Amino acid sequence: MESQDPYVNAKAHVDRVGAMLKLEPGVIEMLKRPRRELTFNFPVRMDDGSIRVFTGYRVQHNNVRGPYKGGIRYHPNVSLEEVRALSMWMTWKCAVVGIPFGGAKGGIICNPKEMSKGELERMTRAYAEELTPFIGPKVDIPAPDVYTDAQTMAWIMDTYSRHMGRSVPDCVTGKPLEIGGSRGRDEATSRGIMYIAAEAATRKKMQLKDARVAVQGFGNVGSNAARLLQDEAGCRVIAVSDSHGGILDEAGLDIKKVLEFKKETGGLKGFPGAKDISNQELLELECDILIPAALENVITEKNAKHIRAKIVVEGANGPTTPEADEILFKNGVMLVPDILANAGGVTVSYFEWVQDLQYFFWNAEEVKGRLKLIMTGAFTRVYGVSSANWIDMRTAANLIAIGEVAKAMQLRGLVP
Ligand code: NAD
Repeated sequence: MESQDPYVNAKAHVDRVGAMLKLEPGVIEMLKRPRRELTFNFPVRMDDGSIRVFTGYRVQHNNVRGPYKGGIRYHPNVSLEEVRALSMWMTWKCAVVGIPFGGAKGGIICNPKEMSKGELERMTRAYAEELTPFIGPKVDIPAPDVYTDAQTMAWIMDTYSRHMGRSVPDCVTGKPLEIGGSRGRDEATSRGIMYIAAEAATRKKMQLKDARVAVQGFGNVGSNAARLLQDEAGCRVIAVSDSHGGILDEAGLDIKKVLEFKKETGGLKGFPGAKDISNQELLELECDILIPAALENVITEKNAKHIRAKIVVEGANGPTTPEADEILFKNGVMLVPDILANAGGVTVSYFEWVQDLQYFFWNAEEVKGRLKLIMTGAFTRVYGVSSANWIDMRTAANLIAIGEVAKAMQLRGLVP
């Protein structure tokens, strides 16, 4: 039976790759379990005067290579299992691109779409108060994820700073520029996806210019990826979607106009000249590059055989189940896994942290140049391992990442 539990799937990868690397069973066990799991129940005064108790998590998976690092998600379906899986993927992601962080993730069970800005601020500050003893510039550095943004990070930074009695910009990344954010952080994940798509297309002997692209999810990652692939890489973005469904125009959508339309109407459906489609239809479109950039488990054993894209670049974390991975690999679809494909976000978060630590800020071109170097270097390494061993790119990326973390653990001394 196919598992939709991201933590079960994340652990299965460690078991498989741990065995391939011939790691000691105790090391595999350690890598599968997060170091710390924090659950907070905290009260928030709602606009109607009532008090609501929210549950939030912070899971710190591994810090052998550097401070814990990972985003914070606001969503009704947040669960400890999901946060655990996401924290583990962060550890592998930082290792695969070679940046000196470990992995963590946080989340609050809530529906941000139904909350006012005031309620979101009070909830974020209450959560940040709970987090304060456990985070910090050299300890654990949160960042944005699904339904959190630069404003959320500003509230967390401010709450943490008030406790410390001084401004501590380096306690979070993904902040607004005005308070120590980095140029290019808002589009970093998507810019990384564009560099990765270019590398993948070259290996597939395809042109990125005029390549037909479909993007699921039209938030930070999806909308910026669609925009950059169209504006900078010359792709034809034929379909995009959000939580309500998608739109298709074989001639290519004008992403700037789609962004304006979404701002005006709150959705994508009914975009002039395009056909409304479902999220499922989007995934199965005949196209060159498919970018799932919403949530987990959207490519499963049920629909994997219907995926007609030549390349899948995972913008989201965990969009493909292990069973679907196998089907795509057999069908010759090149899948660039999440821990590599969407690592541009954490890479520029690293740049932001470095700039904050030094109080010395880089220009946009420096950020782009360094990001490109890291993303293309990591792609080349993963692709090399995958083609040399006839294995899929997820297994190759995990081999590199888990190998690096296990090596760091051994060097530091496994057991005190
Ligand atoms: P976001 O909140 O900005 O956007 C999420 C998008 O997904 C929205 O457009 C929403 O409408 C859509 N969506 C939600 N449920 C959906 C569903 N059931 N079907 C289709 N679309 C749906 O979030 P984001 O920051 O863009 O994150 C998207 C994914 O990328 C997540 O998996 C996240 O973990 C991953 N990611 C984000 C970053 C980052 O820097 N923000 C970095 C790496 C990975």
